[in-house]
Amino acid sequence: MNVIIFGPPGAGKGTQSKFIVNKFNLFQLSTGEFLRREIKNKTDLGSKISSIVNSGSLVSDEIVSNLIEKVISKEEYKDRVIFDGYPRNLTQAKILSNLLSKYNQKIDLVLKLSVKLETIKKRISGRSVCSLCGKIYNDYFNPPPKDKDCCSSKFLQKRGDDTLEVATKRYETYEKTTEPLIDYYDNLNLLKVVNGESPINQIYDEITDIIRLIEG
Ligand SMILES: [Zn+2]
Repeated sequence: MNVIIFGPPGAGKGTQSKFIVNKFNLFQLSTGEFLRREIKNKTDLGSKISSIVNSGSLVSDEIVSNLIEKVISKEEYKDRVIFDGYPRNLTQAKILSNLLSKYNQKIDLVLKLSVKLETIKKRISGRSVCSLCGKIYNDYFNPPPKDKDCCSSKFLQKRGDDTLEVATKRYETYEKTTEPLIDYYDNLNLLKVVNGESPINQIYDEITDIIRLIEG
């Protein structure tokens, strides 16, 4: 099965992807990571990419397509890819579906991890780290103990407001760019929305049920 996963930054998409990859023996194709790897390995594609990036331009759809084709054309990855960070727009969604059908494959499932902006803000603004022991707390979800010397307020450090601002911008950009894609896959009856605000184990269970149902 081939899966696409969507989720706003800070929604725990990485954690969930890793879980699906391990549980169902899938291969995670994170396009950003792959571009960096091509550059590092100095492949033909890699040197092409680095000259584009160095000139300040964006990597074209064609290059990303080449990269994806390199993966999905391999027998070992057939029908077991989870796409993370791709597609980012409708053009890419159509390119992906054409590429897959060239190798007798298709997208079987589109997972959307949904988390409200308010929750992501709380995850960030409530977060603090004890400068003594390194423990991480959250005022809303996992408040620091009141009866301990270590981890008392004088040792707790918070991140600045700028982090919050950046996160809000990234969330809004994510919503704007993925909305048409979500509609597109919903119309193809491929979309499953998972509540990313549930406890992690519950999310795992929900995703497992969805995938089992599709795999039959
Ligand atoms: Zn502490």
